[in-house]
Amino acid sequence: MIDTHAHLYMFELDGKDIIYNMEKDNLERIVTIGTNVEDSRKNIEIARNNKNVYATVGIYPEFAGSITERDLEEIKNLARDEKVVAIGEIGLDFHSVGFDKDAQIDLLVRQLKIADELGLPFCLHCRGAGEELYQVLSNNKHLINHSGLMHCYSEGASYYKKFLDLGLYLSFSGNITYKKSDRSFLKDIPLDRILVETDSPYLAPEPVRGTKNEPKNVRYVIDKIAIELGINPTELEKITSKNAKTFYFKMK
Ligand SMILES: [Zn+2]
Repeated sequence: MIDTHAHLYMFELDGKDIIYNMEKDNLERIVTIGTNVEDSRKNIEIARNNKNVYATVGIYPEFAGSITERDLEEIKNLARDEKVVAIGEIGLDFHSVGFDKDAQIDLLVRQLKIADELGLPFCLHCRGAGEELYQVLSNNKHLINHSGLMHCYSEGASYYKKFLDLGLYLSFSGNITYKKSDRSFLKDIPLDRILVETDSPYLAPEPVRGTKNEPKNVRYVIDKIAIELGINPTELEKITSKNAKTFYFKMK
């Protein structure tokens, strides 16, 4: 299994135990995701010290108001590291307190440009902003040369097709296992566009919901989707791992 989205720096000793147990837990790779300059730097350090851990660097939409030119320069410099496999997480979050829509869009587009310039894919965070995100991406199609993924996809049945048409991958996390989640559209997503993740330490899936999430729980996400699709979980594990390596192509 590959956890395509975790925040290892949020664990004790940067997830040392989690990384130590990867083989036992059947975890082939973990991608640890950045949200600001500081944790992006930390991600690279973790990835450099651990063969099967890869990093992303990027600035989360909530920080849009306080970002300087220097921060963006630094993200661009960090992104050149050989263990950095994508720019992220970047996007729009209209649930954050006192959010600045224009500043978020500006920060997103500038980071899409970095991804394009460096030939990297990108990981998108989207909360309460499905339509706006779709508009920004549609207006900047020329910047989508190495694809993107919708992390923790939660824009529901009405948007998945639009994002697929933009060439994006959809990544599912613990939220897809929840009782109230709409899973009806899963069967309409091409199998080669589905990714799985945990967003650890957040969003623990059923049946461990409410606990501190860990990358090994990506198992439950795979199982739930496999049931919905009526395919063997081992088969889906193989497919999603292959997709992860295709998407994060530097990880191959
Ligand atoms: Zn995240």
